[in-house]
Amino acid sequence: MNYQAAQFEISAAKLRDCPTDSVAEVAFAGRSNAGKSSAINTLTRQGQLARTSKTPGRTQLINYFRVDQGRYLVDLPGYGYAKVPLKVKDDWQVHLEHYLNAREPLLGLILVTDIRHVFKDFDLMMIDWARQNQLPLHVLLTKSDKLKRGAIQEALMKARKELEGMADASVQAFSSLKRQGVDILSQRLDGWLEPADEAPAEPAVDQ
Ligand code: GDP
Repeated sequence: MNYQAAQFEISAAKLRDCPTDSVAEVAFAGRSNAGKSSAINTLTRQGQLARTSKTPGRTQLINYFRVDQGRYLVDLPGYGYAKVPLKVKDDWQVHLEHYLNAREPLLGLILVTDIRHVFKDFDLMMIDWARQNQLPLHVLLTKSDKLKRGAIQEALMKARKELEGMADASVQAFSSLKRQGVDILSQRLDGWLEPADEAPAEPAVDQ
C-alpha cells in the first residue's frame, strides 16, 4: 500500500459518522504524547497529516485517513489529555468502546506507546481488550532514539511478555525522529489493508 497517498477523509464524532464505504481499516490508539501523530506523519511522509487530529475540537474525534478505495488508517482520540474534564473522559471511553466493539471493517489495532514506559494503564487496557476480542494487535514502541540498544531490547522483551498467548500480536521499536521501523510498520499494515488474494479477510475472528 502506498501510505504516502493517505488523505484526510473525515472526523467522526460517532460511529454512525464513520465512512460507510470502508472495507478495511486499522486504528491507531495511544496515550496523548506517546508519539501517535508523529508516527502517522512519518509513515505517510506527510508532516501535517495527523495535525488534523490535534486541531482544537478534533482531539475527541475519530479521524479517518483514506489510503485507497475503502481502506483507511484511523486515528483514535488520544487518551489522557490532562486538560480534559472527567466527564469528557468518560464520554471518550464510551465512544472508543463503541467504536472498537461495533466497527466491522476494523481489522487491526496499532497501539502506540513510549518505549520508556512499557506499559501504562491505558496500554494494558487496550491489550486486554484486543486479547478478549481476538483483534490483531501491533505495538509500536516509539521514541526508540531515546534509548540505547540494550535498553531497546529490554523494552521489547518486556512488551513481548505482556503479549504472550495472544494469537496475533506483535511489537516493534520505532523512531519518528530517525525514521526507524517504518518498513516493519508498513508490512504489518499491508497484512491488514491489502486486498487478500487467497486468505479470507478476517482469518483470526471466530464467527
Ligand atoms: P501524540 O500526542 O501521541 O500524537 O504525540 P506526538 O506525535 O505529538 O509527539 C509528542 C512529543 O513527542 C512531541 O514533542 C514529538 O516531537 C515527540 N516525539 C514523537 N515521536 C518521537 C520520536 O520518535 N523520537 C523523539 N525523540 N521524540 C518524538
